[in-house]
Amino acid sequence: MNIVWFKRDLRVADHAPLKLATQEHSALALYIVEPELWVQADLSARHYAFLKESLSDLESQLLALNLRLLVKVGEAADIFANLHSMFNISAVFSHQETWNDWTYQRDKRVSSLFKSLSIPWHESQQNGVVRKLKSRDGWAKKWHQYMTSPQIEPPEAVASTDIDIKSDEMPSVEQLGTSSETCDTPQYGGRSRGLKLLNTFFDYRGESYTKEMSSPLTAFESCSRLSTYLAYGSLSIREVFQFAQARKTDIYEQSAPGSPWRSSVRSFLSRLRWHCHFIQKLEDEPSIEFKNLHSAIDGLRENDFNNEHFKAWCEGLTGYPLIDACMRALRATGWINFRMRAMLVSFSSNHLWLHWREPSLHLARLFVDYEPGIHYSQVQMQSGATGINAIRIYNPNKQAVDQDPDGEFIRQWVPELSGLSSLEIHTPWLAKDPPKDYPQPIVEEGSARREANQRLYAIKRSKNFKAISSRIVTKHASRKNTVKRKKTKSSTSSSSSSSTGQQHELF
Ligand SMILES: Cc1cc2nc3c(=O)[nH]c(=O)nc-3n(C[C@H](O)[C@H](O)[C@H](O)COP(=O)(O)OP(=O)(O)OC[C@H]3O[C@@H](n4cnc5c(N)ncnc54)[C@H](O)[C@@H]3O)c2cc1C
Repeated sequence: MNIVWFKRDLRVADHAPLKLATQEHSALALYIVEPELWVQADLSARHYAFLKESLSDLESQLLALNLRLLVKVGEAADIFANLHSMFNISAVFSHQETWNDWTYQRDKRVSSLFKSLSIPWHESQQNGVVRKLKSRDGWAKKWHQYMTSPQIEPPEAVASTDIDIKSDEMPSVEQLGTSSETCDTPQYGGRSRGLKLLNTFFDYRGESYTKEMSSPLTAFESCSRLSTYLAYGSLSIREVFQFAQARKTDIYEQSAPGSPWRSSVRSFLSRLRWHCHFIQKLEDEPSIEFKNLHSAIDGLRENDFNNEHFKAWCEGLTGYPLIDACMRALRATGWINFRMRAMLVSFSSNHLWLHWREPSLHLARLFVDYEPGIHYSQVQMQSGATGINAIRIYNPNKQAVDQDPDGEFIRQWVPELSGLSSLEIHTPWLAKDPPKDYPQPIVEEGSARREANQRLYAIKRSKNFKAISSRIVTKHASRKNTVKRKKTKSSTSSSSSSSTGQQHELF
């Protein structure tokens, strides 16, 4: 009996482990709910809700193949040892997983158990991330080869097994002790929902993607919203890439140069590469979940953590309307667009001078699409902790005027400000009649930004900084599409990102 161990790949399409496991033997499809994982500080009830929906969807997909999904609750190594004592496991098939440190350590425990029991464990590549990568040279080519390789067809109906093991009941979040952040209006799990988003994005929602991805007013509709489905593997990134690539061909045949669709499909495809590019960093250096990528940043913020400021930021009560609106929207929906994520982190790390680790955990619990490799790389990048990216501190007032000029988004999420005019809403502290129930700014924007800027630049000028940076570049930096940015004062004083709202350089 083979076991297909489902992890973050909750689908049957383009699923190599499922195909391989069912080729010659009968197979058991297994998902393990690991209580210890669910009390880690980066997980929350909203992730668990999405998982449950995705599992029930997976169950239906498997049943169509005559396979039952066995759900077990417990420590993975114990579950496998127990299953092996009931029947001989011939081999275990799963996808490679680059997730948080807890899952990394669990995989090590499971691997040594399999060795001791002589159970072969076949792990297939999950996306464009390469295990045991020797050098970043040529990575983009490898990524492209993987994305253009044929998808794996689901197996034909599989021979049923006569093993009668009952699934465990899924524990509640209260039983697990998982952090309780739920969502008012979440995305729901399941492959069909992911496919629908993929279709609607390319049918009509994505036409102005490049232009509309930056503003939270338009991004909820104009971005693909596929990140959560990619994070849980309801869709494979290869199938999304191939779908987009096919649409690109159509778009280029049917549209004139300069058409918004052309730019949208190109931007979208690059982001699929970024997805794997960032996860590759965590694969190559798991410590970035906890430690600054650049050691010269160590000690810079650690002793200055201001709990009151952190609390105000978490609750959307900083006194900066767009910051608060974004945090509240994220709490309610489980999603916010890239530029606003970057601004939230930039504000906590720079204006509030908070070390990024606690804020990153808070955001991880709120993002339903939490993907550690992208998350920690991005958080470090927006905090100036990588040492190799341009220092970019977002000015929340400028962002508010640029991305929400009339204050529509702010009014939706910060009702305390709904009575203010468009002229007053971005700076309520200057209003003629400031609302009594909305806080004053917790720091002064300009001076906080300038101070952070000076501190970061001082580190950049320090001895050894460059030598360490160049080692980081060799290990992690993208070798493609790197655009050198001019180092000007003004480029750091407000968001200087491209008109697309995302970073050019692919560090
Ligand atoms: C501080 C911070 C934390 C982030 N944490 C996460 C996270 O935990 N999980 C996550 O999936 N993304 C994360 N991102 C990246 C990005 O914001 C989201 O991928 C994007 O907003 C998801 O929405 P979408 O699916 O509509 O993306 P689209 O714009 O439609 O892009 C399509 C896909 O490309 C990938 N992608 C898009 N932008 C990026 C990017 N900048 N880096 C890497 N991949 C990208 C995603 O898989 C996304 O689904 C983070 C960004 C920042 C600044």
